[in-house]
Amino acid sequence: MRLTMHPLVCQQAVELMSDYLDGSLSRRDRRRLEKHLAACAHCSTYLDQMRATIAASGAVRPDDLDPQALDELTELFRQFRGDGDGT
Ligand SMILES: [Zn+2]
Repeated sequence: MRLTMHPLVCQQAVELMSDYLDGSLSRRDRRRLEKHLAACAHCSTYLDQMRATIAASGAVRPDDLDPQALDELTELFRQFRGDGDGT
């Protein structure tokens, strides 16, 4: 079975990450997120970056997930899927 990347799913994963790192995510959502992370190297990398940011700032806030960050992630996947027009 081939895994297909869905940017929307990845955006949802990113949106769950702050709660995940904050420990406030529900068990069900945490499992969903971890399942996604296991199959998605991009989100795993993004989570690592968030962890590094949190380690540096000592806090995680929902505000950290600004629209620009989501746009960047969406662009990342557009390039990954190869349906962008390139640069
Ligand atoms: Zn993902």
